[in-house]
Amino acid sequence: MQIGIFGTGVVGQTLASALIGKGHAVMIGTRDPAATLNRTTGTVAGPTTFSEWHGANPRVQLGTFADAARFGEVLVNATSGGGALPALQAAGAEALGDKVMLDISNPLDFSKGMPPTLSVCNTDSLGEQIQRAFPDLRVVKTLNTTTAAVMVNPGAVAGGDHTMFVCGNDAQARATVARLLGEWFGWRDVIDLGDITASRGAEMLLPVWLRLWGALGTPIFNFKIAR
Ligand code: NAP
Repeated sequence: MQIGIFGTGVVGQTLASALIGKGHAVMIGTRDPAATLNRTTGTVAGPTTFSEWHGANPRVQLGTFADAARFGEVLVNATSGGGALPALQAAGAEALGDKVMLDISNPLDFSKGMPPTLSVCNTDSLGEQIQRAFPDLRVVKTLNTTTAAVMVNPGAVAGGDHTMFVCGNDAQARATVARLLGEWFGWRDVIDLGDITASRGAEMLLPVWLRLWGALGTPIFNFKIAR
């Protein structure tokens, strides 16, 4: 499958590596591919620059957001909260079309320091803002409630016995994403929360997630819905 990933940060890199490892073709989208390859600081995984990471993952293609949108049969949004709408606008509605997009972004606002606040919540969400801006795009909010390493390897926590959510306005797209999460990464318990307004709750889990990170001293954990 051809997958277009928006975002050159830890999430974009982690998903790209994992999907290439599964035999998929991946293009990562960024604002300026040349600048991203020359970047020596910024959104990097651990101590490596993006170019060092890319050198170790040469099969991952790099393009603009529009290039990645056109390339992907399925799209993934792994941009920052504030960058999500600008990135999708840069890609353009025509390139995005009516594709299925896994939206992993969280509306975290770090402008007033730590802990971050949510730039939108309660009566709206970033997932809804994206869906409103691109009505044809089939946005499915998912994977935003766990850390990147667990997204691609749920087995790293409790043998994979924990929960992921999907929500979005298109029931078929939600089912597709639930299936892909299983096929790509081995997610077993995926709960369908319904339409995209459920992304309010999914995004509002982040303040709890951040406190758990502090309390547990590791990001390698996840929510399990016991029932
Ligand atoms: P990040 O640093 O939050 O985002 C990096 C990406 O955002 C880059 O590709 C950057 O574009 C893009 N971006 C930033 N400002 C932009 C703007 N004004 N216009 C267009 N694009 C812009 O990366 P991350 O840590 O991998 O997180 C990605 C998303 O996943 C976030 O929303 C985060 O909350 C969510 N998330 C992260 C984790 C995690 O484990 N880190 C877990 C769950 C959810 P360039 O490539 O052009 O610089």
